[in-house]
Amino acid sequence: MRVTFLGGADEVGASCALVETGGRRILVDCGIRMTPRDGDRLPWLGGLQQDDDNKHLDAVLVTHAHTDHTGALPVLAQSYPRVPIYMTSASMDLTQILLMDALKIMQYAQEREGEVPLYPKAAAELAIGLCCPVPFAQPVSLCDGELRATWYPAGHILGAGSVLLESSEGSVLFTGDVSVTDQITVPGMMVPRTKPDLVVIESTYGGRLHASRTAEEKRLVAQTGEVLARGGSILFPAFAIGRAQEVILILSRALERGQLPAAPIYVDGMVQAVCYAYSNHTDLLTPWLRKRCDKLGNPFFGDDTPAQPIRTPKLRREAAKRRPAIYVASSGMLTGGPSQFYAGHLAEDPRSFIAITGYQDEESPGRAVQQLARDGGGKLRIGARMVELRCGVGTYSLSAHADTAQVVGVVGALKPQAVALVHGDKGARESMRDAILQGGIDTVHLPGIGTVVDVKRRGGGSRFQPATTTRDARTPTADQLTDFARALVTADGFNRFYTLQDMLRRFDPDGLPSPDATAALREQILDHPRLFQRHRTRAFLYRVHPKAAALLTDPTTGVGPKPTPPRKKKKGRRADQTNAQKITRKHLDTPELYKIGCRVPTAELILYFHFPHTARERFTDAIEAIEAESGWTVTFNPTVHQAALAQRALDALPDGFALSRNPGLHLSDKRVSLHLAEGDPDSEPARQAQAAFLAATGFELTFEGGEGPAIETSLLQGAPVHKPTHEDKLKRLEINRAREAIMRAFAKLPHQPIKVSLKGNTFIQLTFIPPQVGLRYQDTLNRLSRKIGWELRLRRTPNQHLLQEIARELTPDGWTILGHPSTVREELHVRVKVAAIPDLEPLERLDAEMKERTGYGLVFVT
Ligand SMILES: [Zn+2]
Repeated sequence: MRVTFLGGADEVGASCALVETGGRRILVDCGIRMTPRDGDRLPWLGGLQQDDDNKHLDAVLVTHAHTDHTGALPVLAQSYPRVPIYMTSASMDLTQILLMDALKIMQYAQEREGEVPLYPKAAAELAIGLCCPVPFAQPVSLCDGELRATWYPAGHILGAGSVLLESSEGSVLFTGDVSVTDQITVPGMMVPRTKPDLVVIESTYGGRLHASRTAEEKRLVAQTGEVLARGGSILFPAFAIGRAQEVILILSRALERGQLPAAPIYVDGMVQAVCYAYSNHTDLLTPWLRKRCDKLGNPFFGDDTPAQPIRTPKLRREAAKRRPAIYVASSGMLTGGPSQFYAGHLAEDPRSFIAITGYQDEESPGRAVQQLARDGGGKLRIGARMVELRCGVGTYSLSAHADTAQVVGVVGALKPQAVALVHGDKGARESMRDAILQGGIDTVHLPGIGTVVDVKRRGGGSRFQPATTTRDARTPTADQLTDFARALVTADGFNRFYTLQDMLRRFDPDGLPSPDATAALREQILDHPRLFQRHRTRAFLYRVHPKAAALLTDPTTGVGPKPTPPRKKKKGRRADQTNAQKITRKHLDTPELYKIGCRVPTAELILYFHFPHTARERFTDAIEAIEAESGWTVTFNPTVHQAALAQRALDALPDGFALSRNPGLHLSDKRVSLHLAEGDPDSEPARQAQAAFLAATGFELTFEGGEGPAIETSLLQGAPVHKPTHEDKLKRLEINRAREAIMRAFAKLPHQPIKVSLKGNTFIQLTFIPPQVGLRYQDTLNRLSRKIGWELRLRRTPNQHLLQEIARELTPDGWTILGHPSTVREELHVRVKVAAIPDLEPLERLDAEMKERTGYGLVFVT
């Protein structure tokens, strides 16, 4: 068996490889370049025709629908009009959408720039007609049974598969593009349980690390919230397949959970058709999205969803004028299509924002927008218009590819004899090669166009048996189903999942698990939900229902699986991360421990206690036991949990005592103050409460009377300025109206909130820089809250960066600042370290000025 790379090896684009084995010739993927290399968009299809006697092709296998893997199929089909093209049925739907859209784009380019199309419409239709659907995880017999191909879910996008190709000469796995982690739309890659001789794997992200996906999603939602709150609109130019669906769902979810001010999501361009294709393949989606499909029919657009498709140019023109609004539109690099249209409308509006979520080519307008934003603005051409870039621009990494560690992990699980790294630039592939070599694989190829890699079948490797039968497998009848389930459990135990094809081979080893036979079995199984159960995330896998399995087998008679003995713990070995956490929970079963962190390189467990100052003393035995059993060292997060501290202080209050204010937290001097309305602070119960509080928390409890700034402090602890009454709530304004009312109320005042956001649909949070500024407007806020019927709260944390900037600004010229100014939040001042204080006289004035501007004091230290 040998593999020749025809494209997409040392580049991202035009993926294509030829596999030759036993006189058979199979092509895997056939894509185009998005940015042509020397003007050439196609893979080296001449490589198929080199040998005059051997120009034929037996089949084409496609990993996934993206253009860089499918775009050249019509060109290929013109030369090979009878060769079947195999891909999952979801990939078929998406490929069809893409090819039809490509025709439109090529036609447009021809009309405007005289560019010659790559192929005529008939070629695209021919290619679509040659496509044959394949299921996941079920081998497909090729070339009269001489070869076998199996598609395993690869994450990445809907329908994406890694293709395992086997013959009697060897086996090779083409992973295609893979995402190891789950996305919102599709679950992550399923690594096949096989040891192929060669693994051809992507290396897009070699040498780079992914930003945390959840953190990026949060950042994206927060940015959207800010833009909407200031009355602007935000555009997500998104790749139509995969990325766009992720963005729509992230934002829809945030809107539905009340994390964003209400605004419509307009979905425009090819994205729409792709969304419908996603909703038609619920089996392949994540459980969350599947549930959403069940509930809404279409999880993207429906009566109850914030997203709406834009179907006509008139609606598009209207939508582009809306403020605030969200747009998710193709193309992803602003090279054309509706995203370009919306960008033209938003670019000059300083309230609005363009959010880039994917890779931008050097020459693309998307890259120009990023560059210009970095340079501080300027003019650029978007489509036909010259615009001045005044809107905000941001970049968010929502990658659907594996990073180096994940690729090393996948290769490690597959244990091939050799690896070929493709789909990456030079640096990416080299750094990934080094990582894989360190992982114990001896041969790593970095092929280029025309490179040939010979695949040798290893001794004792997977045995491929050519198929010998053509008869369809029989399926169990309803009467036979119980016995069949029992046989499966008896042989394999409770927890084994099967594909339908696996089950058919068990039931009728001599039959062929044909599509008809698997469809019949599927129906039979779904009719008996008490007997069989579908896998939660992999909807094409099934097992005997655990409850049924227990009934079907009887341990007293020895029928059925033996329980697996618990794994013995090896002494002296360190537990892995998950087990270390389990061990910790076992010994420390207290709600006071609210989080367990791990620092893997140093084997440290970081325990987050409400009251860390006393945790070690109070849980000495448990902590020793954890360290002994897990082999990890226990450390503590030093920050006290403020809400728990305040609550504990309230709980400590003796009977008959009452407070006039919320507890005051003085973190820097480890003290909590309670202002008493009733009760004797010098009484014995009060002293007992103080002692108990100190022992539990490590904080002193003090009782005070009289007046003070306690109400203000409580506001900064997040207490509402005014709790709307029932009547107030009845008058409650729609959230956007409420926001407008707030902005109007502050318009003529010296300070304005920089952010107004809806929190969990229960209250509105105002952000002032710094938060203390908000305290000056208690009366205004109070009146407002009554008027608009919403509870208002101040955001607690100051904008440290801005505080530091102002502190620098106020520092007199000639005083040398050392390091960064620091914010001492508990004491409400900014501390600036200087080399020397040449003159004491201005200190008080600077402090006062800082307080006036920010609510924070200014302290100089040497
Ligand atoms: Zn892809």
